[in-house]
Amino acid sequence: QEAKQNTSEEKTDSSIKAVSSNITFKDVAGIDDVKGELEEIVDFLNTPSKYLDFGVKLPKGVLLVGPPGVGKTLIARAVAGEADVPFFYQSGASFVQIYVGMGAKKVRELFMKAKQSAPSIVFIDEIDAIGKKRDGKSNDERESTLNELLTQMDGFEGDSGVIVIAATNKIKVLDEALLRPGRFDRRVFVNLPNIEDRKRILELYLNKKHYEFDIDRLAQETSGFSSAALSTLVNEALLNMIKRSSKIVEQSDIDVAKTKIEFGKKQALLLDEEQKEILAIYQASKAYISKSKVALFDEGITKIDSVYPSYTQLLENIKRYLSGSIAVEVIKNEKYAINSQDIIKAYDLAQKMVDEYKMSTNTQNIIEKVSNTLRSELSQNVDEIVRLKDIMLKNEVISRDDI
Ligand code: ADP
Repeated sequence: QEAKQNTSEEKTDSSIKAVSSNITFKDVAGIDDVKGELEEIVDFLNTPSKYLDFGVKLPKGVLLVGPPGVGKTLIARAVAGEADVPFFYQSGASFVQIYVGMGAKKVRELFMKAKQSAPSIVFIDEIDAIGKKRDGKSNDERESTLNELLTQMDGFEGDSGVIVIAATNKIKVLDEALLRPGRFDRRVFVNLPNIEDRKRILELYLNKKHYEFDIDRLAQETSGFSSAALSTLVNEALLNMIKRSSKIVEQSDIDVAKTKIEFGKKQALLLDEEQKEILAIYQASKAYISKSKVALFDEGITKIDSVYPSYTQLLENIKRYLSGSIAVEVIKNEKYAINSQDIIKAYDLAQKMVDEYKMSTNTQNIIEKVSNTLRSELSQNVDEIVRLKDIMLKNEVISRDDI
């Protein structure tokens, strides 16, 4: 049977087929700005004449940029669903994992089928698998696939009714050729959900379910969660509710779900006494500086989440990111490499303040200013931090009351 399948695949690749999407914008919670950007495309697919009569061309390619699990695939499906057009899904990796020469062939076939079914949407997930910058090392297969994609995108007109949507979480690694006019010249950034978004995503998943816990508080406490992670959280909580033979989701279900998710991440982590003490100092000072609950194995921090953050709020968030490492430095009199993510986030935010918001001219100055504030604040309160550290070692968590 396998042999039979292979022969048929030589003629036409059976993995390239369209599905009709029954997902619409109402299935996508939050990220209103992203929806707004894509509404124009839906409108174009619904009534092309409205645009073509005026000679207006729409972008052929839209690049959705953002971390995993924020709904890039979901929103692309929703565009197809709203416009009621066929949806061709391919992952970037699926083009390059097959035999040499097959990637380009597959791209040609994908576009041929999409044009035949036009108007249609082609969605290429993780396009970086084909579209990475050429790094000197030659990779003929990937390059010929990328070249074919560029050729195909150049080869059809904006009025052909095929819209290519691609997703990536790292725009910086993409070959510039892909970003040139007439290709993926429209870029839409899809960020982690903010506090408002998180509330709406939680409400969507809890729709028609009876719950008795503070949803605003949960939205607040899940800073850094992707939409997909929120969906897992609600699902775990519902499982726990069922286990209790109840029909009402309670705070205890949420707590169990959260612990499970954290535990899954941390199972592999085994620390000796000294390492544990260093981590406890690190986490205790995060709790101390942010005045919020922190568990020993929590990764992120509680950030100030604001739609329009002020200069002071941005500095405060940088301070929270840096608090752990500066505290360890103050108390142990030595620098330790503990949580690079916190450091990277602090620098990224400072960079953003310089590059995007022009609030300062120098990233390093911001970092130093905040570090100095932290150093003096923490060294004046070493006793408190050490007491919090002891609580952390005992309970593996510090509550607001402890602080
Ligand atoms: P990405 O493509 O950005 O990695 P996905 O679109 O695959 O993320 O999202 C994974 C899952 O998370 C979706 O199937 C959906 O269940 C949920 N999800 C993601 N974003 C949202 C959102 N904005 N609203 C509702 N659910 C979402």
